[in-house]
Amino acid sequence: MKILFSGNKFKYEVEATVKLFIPGQRFEFIYDCVNAEGDIICVRRKECKKHTWLFAFCRIGEKTAGHTVKILAEAADYDALCEHELCRCVYFSLMKLTGINPVWGLLTGIRPVKKMTELLEKGFTEKQAKDMLKQKYMVSDKRLDLAYDTAVTQLPLLDKISSGSVSLYISIPFCPTRCSYCSFVSHSMDSARKLIPDYVRYLCRELEIISGIVKDLNLSIDTIYFGGGTPTSIEASQLKIITDTLSRCFNISDVREYNVEAGRADTITREKLEVIKAAGATRISVNPQTLNDSVLKAIGRNHTAKQTVDAFYLARKLGFNNINMDLISGLPTDTPESFKATLNKVIEMDPESITVHTLTIKRSAGLYENAEKYITSPAAEMTDYSIDILPENGYRPYYLYRQKNTVDNLENIGFSKPGCESLYNIFIMDETQTILGAGCAASTKLVEANGKITRIHNYKFPYEYINRFDELMKKKSEIYSKLI
Ligand code: SF4
Repeated sequence: MKILFSGNKFKYEVEATVKLFIPGQRFEFIYDCVNAEGDIICVRRKECKKHTWLFAFCRIGEKTAGHTVKILAEAADYDALCEHELCRCVYFSLMKLTGINPVWGLLTGIRPVKKMTELLEKGFTEKQAKDMLKQKYMVSDKRLDLAYDTAVTQLPLLDKISSGSVSLYISIPFCPTRCSYCSFVSHSMDSARKLIPDYVRYLCRELEIISGIVKDLNLSIDTIYFGGGTPTSIEASQLKIITDTLSRCFNISDVREYNVEAGRADTITREKLEVIKAAGATRISVNPQTLNDSVLKAIGRNHTAKQTVDAFYLARKLGFNNINMDLISGLPTDTPESFKATLNKVIEMDPESITVHTLTIKRSAGLYENAEKYITSPAAEMTDYSIDILPENGYRPYYLYRQKNTVDNLENIGFSKPGCESLYNIFIMDETQTILGAGCAASTKLVEANGKITRIHNYKFPYEYINRFDELMKKKSEIYSKLI
């Protein structure tokens, strides 16, 4: 498909708008052109003396649709207004032509709640804030309610961030096998096993270096998050080496939240859970994704639903009183009935939080090759069911984010019982607290006093992380100049 521009070059936002309706396609961009053969989207700005006309015209096969608006040539923020109004023209044209009505409307960013939070912080009422977002971005009522409820849960927690506090992310980038939808830097154990002892050693060295920085800058660790990969895919003894290093280097008793993404049931053992518990972890995740065995098989997981259920109750028995369970809507071969059965069973198990992701199809994922099959999956019905049923069972939304290439442009929503919200998840999305990342593919996000954010990315692959460790640690000295 071709996207033609005339009198403007608003490529990025126009493309993002088109992708709301036509996902998974590559576009050809042509400038200073108003017509061409085949399927086209033409985006045109025509400036006259007092007014500017903005047009969009779409043709797909035999169908055509268009939309036009007129704005004052002297309008405030003229260029930004033109860009937004042109996107609205594209949006309305494609809505007419395809019959699709995106749930988040024209809102394309990854943090829709931030827009709601900003309006509430400026003193707008719930109704005013919702009306403004509906008018400007055409967000559906259900998502406006969701964004509002999430913002209201987050606001008091964001207020409690003390200055000088930072969070610490620790990456264990290994998994027993690679799930078909995975786009993370995770390495299956077979290929990476021999690297693990060295990886653990270097990771501990990095933690020691970070602890030096934390002391020098008089910072305190507020939350800790072990993610990956699957942190529990390494041996209990290796986990213990890392958690012992943490306890030696940092004042764990001051940490408000200590998360470990135990993740997949095929990696969870009593011994590992005991190591995590003894280290002081306050919150773990045991992630079913689905409790349907045939779907688990279809996504390349080598465990059964029963193993997840058993792992959950084992964690309970060992005293974990804050457990999260992740689910994914729109998984290959899953159906609305099967998703609902999974969610109902998880609610019955009574974890403190349930996170509902929507399938995202990224280029680096195994199922990307057959992506077209999943673009029209019933994910929306599954996600909507979660939004309805979880609050009825005592869970409320507390964090939410969107990703590119998510089926139906949906979102990922963290629900929790009141008081069990994950602070780390809120902080990482709100970008108000510095996060120090350790391990391969971890990123350090430095939030300066003026709100400016600088990122330092660790190397993506374990062998690179190990071989170029000293070089990487030099880069990390930038933390001093940004946080002093
Ligand atoms: S468990 Fe998570 S990180 Fe590991 S392969 Fe599956 S999706 Fe990727």
